[in-house]
Amino acid sequence: MQALELFKNKIASPAKIVITTHHKPDADALGSSLGLKNYLIKKGHEVTVITPSDYPSFLHWMKGNEEVINFEDKSHQKEAIQKIEAAEIIFCLDFSCLSRLQSMQDHVKNSSAYIVNIDHHQDPKDFSQFSYWSTDAAATCELVYELIVDELGDKDLLDADIADCLYAGIMTDTGGFRHPNTTKNVHLITAELIELGADNTKISKLIYDTNSVNRLKFIGFAISRRLVINQDLRIAYFAISKKDLKKYASQTGDTEGLVNYALSIDGIKIAALFTEREDGIKISFRSVEEVAVNKFAQEHFNGGGHKNASGGKSDLTLSETTEKFEQLIKDNTNTLYNQLELIHEK
Ligand code: 5GP
Ligand code: MN
Repeated sequence: MQALELFKNKIASPAKIVITTHHKPDADALGSSLGLKNYLIKKGHEVTVITPSDYPSFLHWMKGNEEVINFEDKSHQKEAIQKIEAAEIIFCLDFSCLSRLQSMQDHVKNSSAYIVNIDHHQDPKDFSQFSYWSTDAAATCELVYELIVDELGDKDLLDADIADCLYAGIMTDTGGFRHPNTTKNVHLITAELIELGADNTKISKLIYDTNSVNRLKFIGFAISRRLVINQDLRIAYFAISKKDLKKYASQTGDTEGLVNYALSIDGIKIAALFTEREDGIKISFRSVEEVAVNKFAQEHFNGGGHKNASGGKSDLTLSETTEKFEQLIKDNTNTLYNQLELIHEK
């Protein structure tokens, strides 16, 4: 409680604020950042959103997008560092350990600002002075809404633009209101956001139903040529090389959602997407409800996340990484699927 009161004091008077989120921000990361920014501006603060990398173009419609600084953009990095150094408060949204800021992390670590973490991931690391954290929340956008409305009593400052940003994060982190995290609270907050003016039809069209021809062709190629299915191990995965990405002129966000095709196959319990990037192999894991992949990602692939949606990385080659993955599934079948067998035996 004391921490909450201190936080309220900190933001009671105008301050220089930086908001940041994880590398390769998704709709929840960017929506919570810009939703919060637009609110804090109304409170009289000077606010800059700095992302550790670029993000998909299907998120560029959010209010405030034009002023976001991408830390990896060399022409703006100096300005970003100055903003971080001058910040009195830094909000860290939608991540639980500073390593997810990648090349930005040391600047935030060395800052003397008051750090606030708002997040819904497991096992948060202790890097903030105020943490507004709950794994019961489906999205960081849900927590930002609750912080503004329930803790700060500022519902009257929310408007349609802020509601659009927050709606986007809740929609995508619940998989379009389909995942088990789609609680009654999610629907109640969503209803409030629609009442505030969130344009749900427009947002789902922009995020889910806007494709480049290249992206559609890439998805077709990936499903027909890059999908490995192993029914014995109950896994299916995509392995996408740098060359594949180049061939389809892949843009940030083009691989988003691909892993779900693998998980949708009958009998498959764990799906993965291995993507060869400049700095190594980026991995996405997905699992059916009874099977947890977050611990697996943490223990073997330097990652983590949620029970049914986690990620990680690998410094091996693409084929070495997929071999390692298959071997680990073989070696850990009992632990991974134990819960499943128990459920089936009932
Ligand atoms: P995605 O597969 O969509 O990139 O990530 C799914 C979830 O896994 C994210 O919401 C995040 O919680 C987690 N995640 C993805 N990559 C990493 C990573 O490198 N480290 C950690 N700790 N979590 C990750
Ligand atoms: Mn999230």
